[in-house]
Amino acid sequence: MSWVKSLKCRECGQEYEKTAKYVCEFCFGPLEAAYDYEKIKKDISREKIASRPLNIWRYRELLPVEGTTYNTLEEGYTPLIRADRLGKELGLSNLYIKNDCANPTHSFKDRVVAVASTRALELGFDTLACASTGNLANAVAAYGARGKLKRYVFIPSDLEKGKVIGSLIYDPNLIGVKGNYDDVNRLCSEIAGKYKWAFVNINMRPYYAEGSKTLAFETAEQLGWKAPDQVVVPVASGSLLTKIWKGTQEFIKVGLIPDKKMRVFAAQASGCSPVTTAYKAKTDTFRPVKPNTIAKSLAIGNPADGYYALKTISDTDGGAEMATDEEIVEGIKLLARTEGIFAETAGGVTVACLKKLAESGALNPKALTVAYITGTGLKTQEAVADHLKSVTVIQPNMEAFEAAHLVPA
Ligand SMILES: *Cc1c(COP(=O)(O)O)cnc(C)c1O
Ligand SMILES: [Zn+2]
Repeated sequence: MSWVKSLKCRECGQEYEKTAKYVCEFCFGPLEAAYDYEKIKKDISREKIASRPLNIWRYRELLPVEGTTYNTLEEGYTPLIRADRLGKELGLSNLYIKNDCANPTHSFKDRVVAVASTRALELGFDTLACASTGNLANAVAAYGARGKLKRYVFIPSDLEKGKVIGSLIYDPNLIGVKGNYDDVNRLCSEIAGKYKWAFVNINMRPYYAEGSKTLAFETAEQLGWKAPDQVVVPVASGSLLTKIWKGTQEFIKVGLIPDKKMRVFAAQASGCSPVTTAYKAKTDTFRPVKPNTIAKSLAIGNPADGYYALKTISDTDGGAEMATDEEIVEGIKLLARTEGIFAETAGGVTVACLKKLAESGALNPKALTVAYITGTGLKTQEAVADHLKSVTVIQPNMEAFEAAHLVPA
């Protein structure tokens, strides 16, 4: 049933069985799902995809699961909207927003967790776990509940209230670790070695990561079966960015879209910018940093896929930018005011970096551009609460309304 041949080491090419394994025994390189593209090319078509339900599983031939029983909440097929008003403010005449706030737990993490939890169930696990910067916690708590799995969710103890409650509501074991994400991740790697749990972003990472490709698949399908010319992607671990590239290349490889040179741009917060800093310094080795930014969902100081993200950026002749906390807030407000989308801080990072990349001339102003908005602002309200107009409170009568002078004379 499966189109996945094996898990394959990205560095030395050694192949492994499709179990919960993520590092190469020979060279310690990361493992990645390897597909039979010849078979997929024969089995897949635009018509077949178009006939299926509007969720990520319409691209099943390019996802790393065996069966057709999915642990799903109908994630994916989120809106791709033309963003003419934002484009006009930024000087980009062909701009689209991929709005991934419209997922079951309101971030793109539902894609990766749907895939990882489906594979975990196939492999017989009874416990789902993760190390999270916030959105992943919500998704693992929800999809674990959906799949009747036990859940252990680890987060930095200082997360936004919206993300804590957005996890607790699904009744997981929620563990707030006194430290940053990198501390949480280190602890979880140790726990994953001792307990037989499916840690979606540790031992299940080869499956988890593939879920991000569906953002690229949908974008291409929604554009009328073609790839964008340039994309701007927020970066935490770097996995999403590399998989948007991989997904696009796969669509070309199996003949669903024409070949095209797509440029990939990274967006990070100034308070946690290991990838952008390395890009600007023109090195391929990056220094881990201690995060200090309001974009907590992107606050990974030692990104697991940072090296591959950098490589993707340079291979595609792309670029990278970073945004200060102030610029992030402005980015959130700009997107809401121009396009009616309330994004979380990571979305503020994307819009702020989109603006800077447009201003610097790094982006081609006429090219087909897609910016990825990966999570909702309702989870990070404290970031903008003090930067908004206040409510006009009045008595319930006409005089009071008119005395407030809200209507131009
Ligand atoms: C996790 C996350 C990202 C980045 O994901 P990586 O694959 O780790 O780079 C981007 N945006 C939001 C809102 C996220 O939660
Ligand atoms: Zn290897």
